[in-house]
Amino acid sequence: MEANILLLGARDVGKSALTVRFLTRRFIGEYGDIESVYSRVDRIDGQEICFNIWDSQFTQDNVIAGRPDVLRMILVYSICDRGSFDVVRQQLQQIRRSRKPSSVPVLIVGNKRDLQRHRSVSSEEGRLLALSQRCGFFEVSAAETYHGVLVVFHRLVDLVRETRALRKTNAGVRGIVRSVSAVFGKKRAE
Ligand code: GDP
Ligand code: MG
Repeated sequence: MEANILLLGARDVGKSALTVRFLTRRFIGEYGDIESVYSRVDRIDGQEICFNIWDSQFTQDNVIAGRPDVLRMILVYSICDRGSFDVVRQQLQQIRRSRKPSSVPVLIVGNKRDLQRHRSVSSEEGRLLALSQRCGFFEVSAAETYHGVLVVFHRLVDLVRETRALRKTNAGVRGIVRSVSAVFGKKRAE
């Protein structure tokens, strides 16, 4: 299975740090500003998953325009940067305007959890935003741990599986509705 993931968010929230942590288990410190795609293959529950991760520099309009192949998104903000939380809110609106919530699994991630003293966005605010938009939510520190970051990327795979299963169920229900109306349609016609 391919997992195409787009990381979005304001500058300096730690998108590159999260990506590099996931790919190499390391935290380097400085990452530059290159937009790149990275790949890594993982085995999750016996299934091979190829992660393709876009570490993007998009922060303004039309974050997903022209990227129809990107099906999963991680919106990153820094818990110390309220402006970056507002950016996530705006990007979420854009995504919801152009895609059905059920078709795009989105995770909201509050990074830099290690900098508690400088926190300006509470966990509750993050969680509430995620709840109201039916997204997953995590607070992590790319600087501190590998495991927390791993959990985020793996959770996205679970979400994709759930979405697919749900779509199948919905298709099944639609099929039933269609056949029922076909029967009633006939009766009425008689
Ligand atoms: P990007 O612009 O979103 O890709 O952000 P970067 O990954 O380049 O990170 C921006 C700055 O924040 C760098 O100096 C990183 O070292 C730092 N940084 C990233 N993640 C964390 C974190 O979890 N904790 C702390 N303290 N600093 C972080
Ligand atoms: Mg970067």
